[in-house]
Amino acid sequence: MESFEELLRQAEVVHGHMCAGQILGVRMALLACRRLEVDEPRGADRKKLVCFVEIDRCATDAIGMVTGCRLGKRALKFRDWGKMAATFKNLATGKALRVVALENSRELARQRYAEIENKGQQQMRAYRELTDEELFHEQWVTVDVAPREMPGYKGARVNCAECEEGINFDRFVERDGQLLCLSCADPQLRYWEPLRREGEA
Ligand SMILES: [Zn+2]
Ligand SMILES: [Zn+2]
Repeated sequence: MESFEELLRQAEVVHGHMCAGQILGVRMALLACRRLEVDEPRGADRKKLVCFVEIDRCATDAIGMVTGCRLGKRALKFRDWGKMAATFKNLATGKALRVVALENSRELARQRYAEIENKGQQQMRAYRELTDEELFHEQWVTVDVAPREMPGYKGARVNCAECEEGINFDRFVERDGQLLCLSCADPQLRYWEPLRREGEA
């Protein structure tokens, strides 16, 4: 695995800027890889990790970069819980670790680096130098990754009986003998509404 500084540099490039979240994310991912004995997540050990992230913020990009777990590979699972936390599972051993960034690390940063006036700089320095114990709570957990959620899963592709759009990875419901996509099955789930044309009711 590359050094912390090298990973941080790469994270900055991928993310577009350097920020406290990059430092936090790189450290979370490094900690998890160490505990799960995944030495080369983007090399020899690729395909071993699945990662559940609980927030879509800066640190998420760094976690994806270091672990090689990406949405497009189905190895990055997003749980929109608004928490600075992530769970990492080693598919080869079955072990899983949940890592949460501690709330009091901001306060700790303020106390320990009071001489740095700029809050962002203060936080970045703290996130570099505080120990893992000061920054994170870690917990061994079990995570069930169903076969259809696995990165390499190949399911049959079906078409929705209503909108006729193709559906992958078994994301359909069966109703009255018909297969429906999730948005046709439950319009409440729809995040979009068609625009009404003028003159339509
Ligand atoms: Zn950022
Ligand atoms: Zn449909």
